[in-house]
Amino acid sequence: MILGHPLIVYCPGCNTPHMQMNLISGNTFGGVFWSDGCSLSPMLPDIPLFTRCTSCNLIFSLKRCKQTESEDEEVFKMPVVVQPDINGLAEALTLKVHQSGQEEIYLRIRLWWALNNRSFNKGEIGHHIVDQAYRDNAIRLLNLLDVENKENLLTIAELYRNLGEFDKCSKTLSGVTEKHFENHVKQIKDACNRGLSAVVRLN
Ligand SMILES: [Zn+2]
Repeated sequence: MILGHPLIVYCPGCNTPHMQMNLISGNTFGGVFWSDGCSLSPMLPDIPLFTRCTSCNLIFSLKRCKQTESEDEEVFKMPVVVQPDINGLAEALTLKVHQSGQEEIYLRIRLWWALNNRSFNKGEIGHHIVDQAYRDNAIRLLNLLDVENKENLLTIAELYRNLGEFDKCSKTLSGVTEKHFENHVKQIKDACNRGLSAVVRLN
């Protein structure tokens, strides 16, 4: 993992400075991967696109705020930029903090991941609760994802499986033909065939 000097990002509401890691490059070595596309890789942290100000609570875009690189040690005393929690992601969507379809997809995928219970044990399937908020977000996300774009098919298939729509999951998976995803597809298909809707930690 290669890091640049930390970034100081300023809340557009109250100008409070926050510290953001400046990731130049990373890799997924040693990472943990789940069937919904979420992963944890020590050498590739998920750098947020939105965050909540620790002073005034405003949720703002880290692409649309004043920011500077800093070599000053003082930067490490500042609050650190983190991904908004479930309430923050839902609030960002309600307030339409996003300015494009891609940004809405980003927020809805982060909310979907945050609502999914996931196990850290290989092959283990987590406990799954689909309430109205979960269903609303998943359906809106399905409506935003272009089915003609093959890159979206694994996400679409997993959303259908998470919603318990196993036939649609299976049909969508049949469109994923890339060798690279063979193992991923096999594990989603296996859970689908067993009528399991929760997220699987991939082997
Ligand atoms: Zn603020």
